[in-house]
Amino acid sequence: MTEQLRRRLDELRANDLPVHGGRTLAYVYDSGLAEVDAVGREAVAAFAGTNGLDPTAFPSLLRMENDLVAMACDLLDAPAGAVGTVTSGGTESVLLAVQGARDARPDVPGRPNLVVPDTAHAAFHKAAHYFGLETRIVPVGPDHRADVEAMIAAIDDSTVLVVASAPSYAHGVIDPVAALAAAAAERGIRCHVDACIGGWVLGWAARLGREVVPWTFAVDGVTSISVDLHKYGYAPKGTSLLLHRSAELRRPQFFAWADWPGYTMLNTTMQSTKSGGPLAGAWAVAQHLGEQGYLDLTRAALDATDVIAGVVERTEHLHLLCRPDSTLIALRTDEALDPFTLCDEMAARGWHVQPQLSYRTQGPTVHLSVSAGTAQHLAEFEEALAAAVAASVAAGPVQVDDGVAAVVAALDPTSLSDEDFDGLLAAAGLIGDAPGDGGQALALPERMAEVNALLDLATPSLREAVLVAFLDRLSRPVG
Ligand SMILES: *Cc1c(COP(=O)(O)O)cnc(C)c1O
Repeated sequence: MTEQLRRRLDELRANDLPVHGGRTLAYVYDSGLAEVDAVGREAVAAFAGTNGLDPTAFPSLLRMENDLVAMACDLLDAPAGAVGTVTSGGTESVLLAVQGARDARPDVPGRPNLVVPDTAHAAFHKAAHYFGLETRIVPVGPDHRADVEAMIAAIDDSTVLVVASAPSYAHGVIDPVAALAAAAAERGIRCHVDACIGGWVLGWAARLGREVVPWTFAVDGVTSISVDLHKYGYAPKGTSLLLHRSAELRRPQFFAWADWPGYTMLNTTMQSTKSGGPLAGAWAVAQHLGEQGYLDLTRAALDATDVIAGVVERTEHLHLLCRPDSTLIALRTDEALDPFTLCDEMAARGWHVQPQLSYRTQGPTVHLSVSAGTAQHLAEFEEALAAAVAASVAAGPVQVDDGVAAVVAALDPTSLSDEDFDGLLAAAGLIGDAPGDGGQALALPERMAEVNALLDLATPSLREAVLVAFLDRLSRPVG
């Protein structure tokens, strides 16, 4: 690569969130070990051009996939006969779990449905949208965990899947998997445990002797589990696992097409041609870390979570929404502390935490995915948090003009024109009209609190519409 091209890449990256350093507490998962990244990168590069389309053409990929599945089966208490597939990410694992559940039950009357707690990941709604299912969204109980009685009441003859999270992304707690799986099994319905984010942590946590409520294949009635390697497997981006209790349960996931003049297409996942790079990256990282490596990283991440939870509990104006079951923390604030301002103030100090907007009766919260890399920086975290809280309290809550609030509350997204969206996005400061690199310049304000406060007043459907309009304007060819 020429020096000039390399410089250009570095310039492009300059405004990205840091992927190393343990201070980005969403999107990226940092082991804090430079060799782990180097191993992953080298393997991705070495296999970038291979094609997982045909396992007989690239037997290396088949072998690495089967190795990773074996490791996961062992970790997640899978019985003999369990099988799995490496996918491109948690969303693809969830999509395939839902598609398989639908296609295994052509007998159900009318439109098939899946019963999900309202904390289930948005990927289930994407799956239902793509595959024509109905989602029955059941509010969680006061402990933020799935309400078993209410979930059971939502099941009917057209239910093809019951979903539990281990843990939920937004609140970091594990649903009562045993009760949900038993209820599903009794009715002959599949039960998927979405452990995309927490599975690789909880599995090792149990081996470290931590108390973990049962959620794996050790629980009767659990038919499939998703667990991402590109989260707490500390692998490069692009890998997740979807495990099934038996090959029979997996079968509808496979797709074959021979009725055309080309090669017989035979796919285990949604992608057909797919780079072997991410799979090789995940395999190499898993080999490099091994059981002991994962135990050490899991202990570090869990201990760091405990420390951060303690700091939060000692900090005025801050509270844990609930006690974390793994490495995910949801914070809430009292009236004196605006959560969106807190996120900005943390970012100003080099710490990236994730705002979560109000949902139903729950006010806004702040999400932290704590990884092992954060463990080396806990004193700095505590210092940054104290300073960010003080600065946010001093600044006071973000004021949304009463008139603007009334307009937002009354807006019907279906009645808005393109010009209306242009006006809204400009008013929110999200789209600048300076002709930057693209058609519309990405003009994210330095501080997002005002934007978040405004979005927080909007209904979910208005948030979706405004943000889709935003994405639409961002995603334009550079001219
Ligand atoms: C991250 C996540 C997903 C989706 O995974 P992607 O890898 O982002 O596609 C699904 N479920 C849970 C609980 C997650 O945390």
